[in-house]
Amino acid sequence: MRQKLVAGNWKMHGDSQSIRELLTALKPAVAESAAEIAVIPPLVYVPLCADLLAGSSIALGAQTVSEQRNPGAFTGEVCADMLADSGCRYTLVGHSERRSLYGENDALVAAKTEAALAANVLPIVCVGETKEQREAGATLDVVGQQIDVVLSTLNSGHDKITVAYEPVWAIGTGLTASPEQAQEVHAFIRTRLAAHSAELADTVRILYGGSVKAANAAELFAQPDIDGGLVGGASLDAEEFAAICNAIG
Ligand code: PEP
Repeated sequence: MRQKLVAGNWKMHGDSQSIRELLTALKPAVAESAAEIAVIPPLVYVPLCADLLAGSSIALGAQTVSEQRNPGAFTGEVCADMLADSGCRYTLVGHSERRSLYGENDALVAAKTEAALAANVLPIVCVGETKEQREAGATLDVVGQQIDVVLSTLNSGHDKITVAYEPVWAIGTGLTASPEQAQEVHAFIRTRLAAHSAELADTVRILYGGSVKAANAAELFAQPDIDGGLVGGASLDAEEFAAICNAIG
């Protein structure tokens, strides 16, 4: 049985004061949630969040990780060992904003996934098609290729990844994939995992991301292949994010 996961990607938002307020409100509000919950703050606030979350079951993640595994002359980069040392259980890899704004391609996403696993940081591998790709009928080809590169690059640790299906046209736009549209792609991703091994298809969690809100979360999370959510904008509001976390049945 896969435990559901709801992760809040704060992107480049927040300051010490607002983060204190957010986590102070969030902790009691999600205490009874059946899901595992994670927050993914800007990197500079990871230590603050680790302090504020001490003793809580809310996990911590990073928004990206270097593909470089060893310390060295890589100005601006942060390696997975540093994330682990700072209390991160998870890291996003290949978020669509990293792919489109910072030139991360499938090979780099696979290298980052490997680097995270080598440090025991659990990668949440983000995949998804653009509006143009969906309109051209290429959704499954695009998502299949994004998944296959990661699965074929890894030597081990396939069962430690989480996949986040995030249609690019739904991220931050207020447009959400319908539960049926999301389920179709999630089921397809599971067949790609099954092509690697049946056990992998059973084990790996596939999250949906793209304008998840309290109002649409329950219906999305009720789909058989949706194992939780990756939530952007709505995770900045403790009450809204708690309602999403508590929508997990
Ligand atoms: C995201 O940043 O991963 C995301 C899904 O954002 P939003 O929920 O705001 O669409």
